[in-house]
Amino acid sequence: MSHERVEVDLGVLIRELEEGLDAFKQDFPLDNFRKGDYKQYPVITLLACSDSRVPGNMVGSMFNRVFTIENIGNQVKTGEGSILYGLLHLGTPFMIVSGHSDCGAIKAASSDYSGEPEALRKELTTVKQSLNQGLKAMKGSLSDDEKKKYTQLAELNVDVQIEYLLSHPEIKELVEHKDLYILGTMLDLHDVYGGGYARTYLSNVNGEKNPDMIKGYTELGSLAARANRIS
Ligand SMILES: [Zn+2]
Repeated sequence: MSHERVEVDLGVLIRELEEGLDAFKQDFPLDNFRKGDYKQYPVITLLACSDSRVPGNMVGSMFNRVFTIENIGNQVKTGEGSILYGLLHLGTPFMIVSGHSDCGAIKAASSDYSGEPEALRKELTTVKQSLNQGLKAMKGSLSDDEKKKYTQLAELNVDVQIEYLLSHPEIKELVEHKDLYILGTMLDLHDVYGGGYARTYLSNVNGEKNPDMIKGYTELGSLAARANRIS
C-alpha cells in the first residue's frame, strides 16, 4: 500500500494555496448568498472516494450546490450520519455515489492491510465487507484483466452502497415518491470502458443495475444514455 512521496517546492505550494484562497473570495457569489439568507441549499449529496483524481467539481460547481462526503472507497457506513443529514435534512433531490477506476482503497481492501493503523484497518474492513457482499450478488465473473477486474469491483461496491442506502425506510420512501434519485456512477479515469478517459457512466439508478432498463428512464433525460457497466 506504500506510495512514493511527491517532491514539492513548499514556496510554490504556499503561493498556489494563497492564490486559491484569494480566487475563492474574488469569485464568491455574495449576492446570491445574501438572497438565500446566507444558508445552504445543496441539490446534490455526493459520496465520492477521497482520491484526488475524483474531485467533487466533476459534477459542476460546488458552492452551495453539492453536499460532499468523501472517504476512501466511497463507503456509506464510514460517513453515514453526514449522508443522512444531506438526504433527510437538507433534502437534496439527487444522491450520487461515485466509484472510479483504479481505486486504491479497493485494491488495498483486497490485499493484506493488517500492518496498517487501527483506524485505517477499520475503514478498509468496511470496504472489504462491501466487496464481499457485492461479489456474492454478482451474476457473472470477474475479468482476468487487472484494470477491468478492479473497475468491476468498484461497480459492485457502488451497488452495495445504494442497496444499503435503500435499506433505510426514510430513504426508500423518498425514492418511491420521486423526491430523491440515487445515482450510482463510475468515473472512468483510465478508459477501461473504452469510451474515453475521464468519462462518467451511470451504473445504478435507485438500485436498478441493468443498463438497458436505465436507458429507458425518460425522467433522467440525457443522463440515461450514460448507462453502462462492465459487470
Ligand atoms: Zn478510490
